[in-house]
Amino acid sequence: MKKAIFPGSFDPITNGHIDIIQRALPLFDEIVIAIGVNSNKKYMFSLEERKSFIEKTFEGEAKVSVKTYEGLTVNFCERINASFILRGLRNPADFEFEKAIAHTNRSLSDIETVFLLTSTETSFISSSIVREVIQNHGDYDHLVPKAVTGS
Ligand code: ADP
Repeated sequence: MKKAIFPGSFDPITNGHIDIIQRALPLFDEIVIAIGVNSNKKYMFSLEERKSFIEKTFEGEAKVSVKTYEGLTVNFCERINASFILRGLRNPADFEFEKAIAHTNRSLSDIETVFLLTSTETSFISSSIVREVIQNHGDYDHLVPKAVTGS
């Protein structure tokens, strides 16, 4: 059984994340969306809100579940028997950052990181840009799933 985790902060989940998850569904039997908890980081949305946005978005999708974790991503993978880490790539900066993390993870475990390239329509979306738009009272309906806007 091919089990992957899609780790991230999801503060909040965006249409960019959804694109990657939907396109990864045919590749895996199970995808666990894994919200990493970092007590030093400030979030706009609480852990409960972030989890609930994702659960509502993937309601009825049997292959997708949501979990939270603390500590190293590879340790979490081992705990839940996931052999793959799924990540999305938007640009060269993502690639450089992800390359170092993937190499480090390979040095710590046998877990493979699988990258999918962003779709052209969602390549510009990031959670940080969405937070910026929200803070400045802009329209963000087209950037996130309905669960986030509450509409
Ligand atoms: P992190 O805090 O680890 O960066 P994020 O929640 O921002 O977590 O992102 C989780 C994953 O989703 C990362 O692999 C990131 O590159 C990917 N991602 C985020 N936005 C997009 C997008 N618009 N297109 C493709 N992948 C994306």
